[in-house]
Amino acid sequence: MEKLKIRLYGDPILRKRSEEVTLFDASLSSFVKDMIDVMFRYDGLGLAAPQIGVSKRIAVVLKDKEPVVLINPVLLKVSDDLQEANEGCLSFPDIYEAIKRPVWVKVKAFDTEGREFEVSGEGLTARAILHELDHLDGKLLIDYLSPAKKALVKSKMRKLWKK
Ligand code: ZN
Repeated sequence: MEKLKIRLYGDPILRKRSEEVTLFDASLSSFVKDMIDVMFRYDGLGLAAPQIGVSKRIAVVLKDKEPVVLINPVLLKVSDDLQEANEGCLSFPDIYEAIKRPVWVKVKAFDTEGREFEVSGEGLTARAILHELDHLDGKLLIDYLSPAKKALVKSKMRKLWKK
């Protein structure tokens, strides 16, 4: 299944703004199941659809070890308090960089049945939610780094592309 390969930094799909989901059907549910499988297989805390080659506004994140599916998610609230922690991304293998993010977030989203719900997250969960929401807008971890760190990450990724 080609589409389930993780897309790495450099793949143009990671820079596109993903499209809203308009059809809540069986193929959406089965795609979301695939996303959850991939997230667990790669030991990720979250995954966004573009990372497996589908430019749709769908993300999954782990909260209390359970996957939460976020379809067409919208950020409702973030805390003023920020927290710096090392952050990784399946599209940047083996790269972890310190990034400041709000400690707490609240989002609304739809589930696979098309029902709207709200979910909040703290700490690592908040970080995962914000990270995956960024993906849906084509924003990546590297965008938060200083020019020097950016250059370092790019050179590490270039080595990876050659493999
Ligand atoms: Zn990521």
